[in-house]
Amino acid sequence: MAIIAHDGRKPEMVAFLLEHKSVLEKIDLIATGTTGLHVMNAGLEVTRVKSGPKGGDAQIAGKIVEGEIGAVIFFRDPMGKHPHEPDIQMLMRICDLYNIPLATNPAAATMLFKVYEADLM
Ligand code: PGA
Repeated sequence: MAIIAHDGRKPEMVAFLLEHKSVLEKIDLIATGTTGLHVMNAGLEVTRVKSGPKGGDAQIAGKIVEGEIGAVIFFRDPMGKHPHEPDIQMLMRICDLYNIPLATNPAAATMLFKVYEADLM
């Protein structure tokens, strides 16, 4: 599973993951650089790619195309502007193209994790 959080939402991502530690035993996490750093600092295991603005979202999209990622949690900042907006749009398009579940807020991510908890994925 890939996880990405924009700056204002990184604490929310870490709190969300810590709340769902039992699910994390069942899945490997891959994250954009800074999100991954926060997650690592919270004591969780994660593989990191480049930071989002340095191509990390594009790397995650590439891994979806290669069939290496089964779901994405992307806590986006709905109020912010991002230099890598084209990469963000591309990642979301790739999720749709490859029918990869994409949760962009904790409510949707909680539902997604319930599926993993129930071993349905
Ligand atoms: P970051 O990238 O985890 O390196 O901050 C996320 C993003 O901005 O897409």
